[in-house]
Amino acid sequence: MEIKKSDFVKSAVFEADYPEPINNLEFAFVGRSNVGKSSLINSLTNRKKMARTSKTPGRTQLINYFIINDETYLVDLPGYGFAKVPKAVKQAWGNTMERYLASKRSKLVFVLLDIRRVPSGEDLEMLEWLDYYDVPYKIIFTKVDKMSNNEKFKQLKDIRKKIEFKNSDVLFYSALSHKGREELAEYLDEALEE
Ligand code: GDP
Repeated sequence: MEIKKSDFVKSAVFEADYPEPINNLEFAFVGRSNVGKSSLINSLTNRKKMARTSKTPGRTQLINYFIINDETYLVDLPGYGFAKVPKAVKQAWGNTMERYLASKRSKLVFVLLDIRRVPSGEDLEMLEWLDYYDVPYKIIFTKVDKMSNNEKFKQLKDIRKKIEFKNSDVLFYSALSHKGREELAEYLDEALEE
């Protein structure tokens, strides 16, 4: 899929506020703050400021819906792992996230992990939630341009101490060079055809 057209649709908190489904599958993106989620969405959609909407104050805790090629939605889920947020904000984030995971939307969630970091407790919790709600997901390692192949190999070994995966089951992405964009776009195509 070449994403030729993409637009912000709306922000939402409750399922009733999500836009009408237009396809039998939508694609959601989640990860800790700073993992490169906005950069990846911008790279994927070929838009420089697409996902900036979700960074405007007041919107960081919301679910942001984008429509691509008039075909399906990209769903930018609120990031986690902000250092100093009040408990109430964390609670609200959890509620918003759980409502989405438990919603009737047919979804595929991309979990973004910074290749340079060993997954945090929050990353692991996110994966557990997805399992718990039986939501299909795919891991994307971000910022792969920041490491040599050798470093990557070593780092993946460390990451595997926390989570199990085969290299062929995960995606690698650089929003800087757009490496991985075609693979991801192809993956979206295949998922839509299934
Ligand atoms: P978000 O908080 O998850 O939306 O993260 P951003 O997309 O805002 O990225 C956080 C920081 O990482 C920014 O300074 C980006 O420029 C940088 N960044 C994001 N993706 C990449 C990447 O693929 N390669 C490199 N080198 N930097 C990246």
